[in-house]
Amino acid sequence: MTPILSLSAAELERWLEEHGAQAYRRRQVWDWLARGADTFASMRDVPTALRAALEGEFAVTSLKPIATSVVDRGLTSKTLYELEGGHSVEAVVMRYTDRTTLCISSQAGCPIGCPFCATGKFPFGRNLKAHEIVEQAVDAQRILSPEGRRLSHVVFMGMGEPMANYLAVVDSVRRLADPELLGISPRRIVVSTSGLIPRIAQLGEEKVPVTLAISLHAARDELRDVLVPINRKYPVRDLVDAAQEYARKTGRRVSYEWVLLAGVNDTQQDAKELGALLKRRLAHVNLIPFNPVDDTPYSAPDRASIRVFRDMVEAEGLNVTVRDTRGREADAACGQLHERVMRATTPVA
Ligand code: SF4
Repeated sequence: MTPILSLSAAELERWLEEHGAQAYRRRQVWDWLARGADTFASMRDVPTALRAALEGEFAVTSLKPIATSVVDRGLTSKTLYELEGGHSVEAVVMRYTDRTTLCISSQAGCPIGCPFCATGKFPFGRNLKAHEIVEQAVDAQRILSPEGRRLSHVVFMGMGEPMANYLAVVDSVRRLADPELLGISPRRIVVSTSGLIPRIAQLGEEKVPVTLAISLHAARDELRDVLVPINRKYPVRDLVDAAQEYARKTGRRVSYEWVLLAGVNDTQQDAKELGALLKRRLAHVNLIPFNPVDDTPYSAPDRASIRVFRDMVEAEGLNVTVRDTRGREADAACGQLHERVMRATTPVA
């Protein structure tokens, strides 16, 4: 079966016309998908014969949910999906009072291999296609609709390096933003990168003003070469220059992500180096307490050390926040539900 979202709007309209239906039916089908319909049969204002034809030709999604994990009293839910061909990826829904955010995967596995990351420990699988990225959001809406919630924000911070799957990621951003599908403004979409400088420059030309997040984690090359190995190719100062050029072109403040590893990157020296690197830049620093991963040498700083580091960064004149540890129990660090399922003899339910 062909996943229906693998067709562009024009391709689906052509198919409809070839099957004796008017092109506007495409908008109806997309509208149902955006509202969380999980079968063509449930699309009530689509004629019965057309629903049957759609059912015979297309799948509503190509993703097969194989495990879920719900924590934070139901506010965080994580789903592991099997892709066509057998690889799997995760997506996490986080419910807040003023927003609902989906953390989305762009690759099965990740070629970057950061040593503190659960995803980086697995062999790289493959790039996701644009429709497989969009389907994670459509499925999130299917989960959220019965709760009376709408997906409002998407962050590309799940499995994979989004810029290493550039064309599919940009295509998926355009489709997530399409008002006839999910209608999520690019300003509410965050694309993260470990630092593929040529792709940052390219993204700045796309006229999709997403928020750029840089997975920084260290401000000096010597340490960043270890924590984010792509730094050996694209050193940190060049990376920050590229990010600032993106900020200049789009007017969007860049977010710098910093996973706090006890005794590794949470010292006064680190805060000072970070201050020197980002001073007078359009930047926001997001500190992320490390979510411990098995078989890594790293550990999370305690709460008091996190506060001290935040204060030191603030004293450098930077905007800084500490991200809440939403979903920690849900294996919410990227790759962790995948890891647990892979290790278990039967999938978790
Ligand atoms: S932290 Fe991000 S870039 Fe690094 S291995 Fe994990 S998923 Fe890949």
